[in-house]
Amino acid sequence: MQKAEIIAVGTELLMGQVVNTNATEIARVMSELSIPLFYQSVVGDNQERLIEQLRLASQRSNLIILCGGIGPTEDDLTKQALAKFLHLPLDYHQQTKEKIIHHFEQIGKKMPENNLRQALYFEQGIGLFNHNGFAVGLAITVEQVSYIVLPGPPNELMMMLEKEVKPYLSKQEKTVFFSKTLHFIGIGESKLATIIEEFIIHQTNPTLAIYATPVDVSVRITANGNSKEECLNFILPIQQAIEQRLSQYLYGYDDDTLAKLLVDKLTKHQLTLSVAESLTGGWAQKELVDVSGVSRCFKGGVVTYQKNSKQDVLHIPYQILEQYGTISQQCAKEMAFQVKKLFDSDIGLSFTGIADSQSVENKQSGTVFIGIAYKDNPVECYELTLHRLRNENRQLALRHGLNYLRKLLEDIYGN
Ligand code: ATP
Repeated sequence: MQKAEIIAVGTELLMGQVVNTNATEIARVMSELSIPLFYQSVVGDNQERLIEQLRLASQRSNLIILCGGIGPTEDDLTKQALAKFLHLPLDYHQQTKEKIIHHFEQIGKKMPENNLRQALYFEQGIGLFNHNGFAVGLAITVEQVSYIVLPGPPNELMMMLEKEVKPYLSKQEKTVFFSKTLHFIGIGESKLATIIEEFIIHQTNPTLAIYATPVDVSVRITANGNSKEECLNFILPIQQAIEQRLSQYLYGYDDDTLAKLLVDKLTKHQLTLSVAESLTGGWAQKELVDVSGVSRCFKGGVVTYQKNSKQDVLHIPYQILEQYGTISQQCAKEMAFQVKKLFDSDIGLSFTGIADSQSVENKQSGTVFIGIAYKDNPVECYELTLHRLRNENRQLALRHGLNYLRKLLEDIYGN
């Protein structure tokens, strides 16, 4: 199995003068190539310490990517340190040497000899052409450990990663990592962890990880194997077992979002939707409109925050607001019904409630009512009591609302 590690070289990185963005770029490419990256480190422009770090890295990783310190000056010593560590001589990369000499001829200046340091590489390895500069990168494998050396300037590094490193690494034999992520709503992290505890404890391939934010819980199942298909075969039995135990909370996979799943469903069944928001202040509509192609199903919506607006814009009858209050089942139902009528849509969805921690209209903090008016059916209302911070409650409410509607459509139309 490949185990990659990054060593960024440069005293300016240690001193905090430059942010180590090169490490981020390299890490991104490793992830793109499904190569697991286990360590990142920064070493100053010091040969001894770099050799020390190379020794450590070569004992625990088999792909070591170095960046920085391959320029023309004496303090650029990455290749020299690697040469000393590997006990290999450095040679001139002919194409790069000619490129540098040609450049100085063209500008009509005498070339300072140290410029040729940038053309150094190992004849036993390969040179990685620098499309944005002079310093050649290099790749070499010694005793089953591959070393790749890249330039420090980010524009040079990024181009080299893209044009040289990616094709080079793609050709090498490697273990594939593949993940499947399952998304859940309506269940907390600890309850979910308890339900699938035995899988978490006993698995080595695949492994399970739970990711939770205040409004979201996901389980990522990751397998390694020789191909994506082999990984999927390892993942599937665990995935099915988890699905079985948590089916009532599961809403999607990988890049699925509730809004996207709902928009797909509405579009598939040629249904139109409008939304009336109080508590969520337009957030539900924003989530929907974030989905490309939403115009096929989303007619529009209103934010009626104050009581008067509910009356004036949505025509909620005065006696409903007086008798039951704005935070009530009756108000949520009426909002859904009225917005559906206002926009002449198939479905009206509404949100009203208290996001803050104090009670309003004698209703407990975190109380939420979500109304769904579907065609001529009796209007449905769902009640929630949420216990998080203001905006987390608002976001949770909207996610639940989208999910209730998604489930309702599933009950009516099937999957
Ligand atoms: P040069 O020819 O410029 O000497 P080099 O390959 O020797 O190139 P360095 O001297 O280490 O690279 O770095 C050159 C510049 O590139 C630094 O001053 C810094 O601005 C930027 N740089 C170096 N390393 C990183 C890094 N890890 N992340 C972001 N920027 C970096």
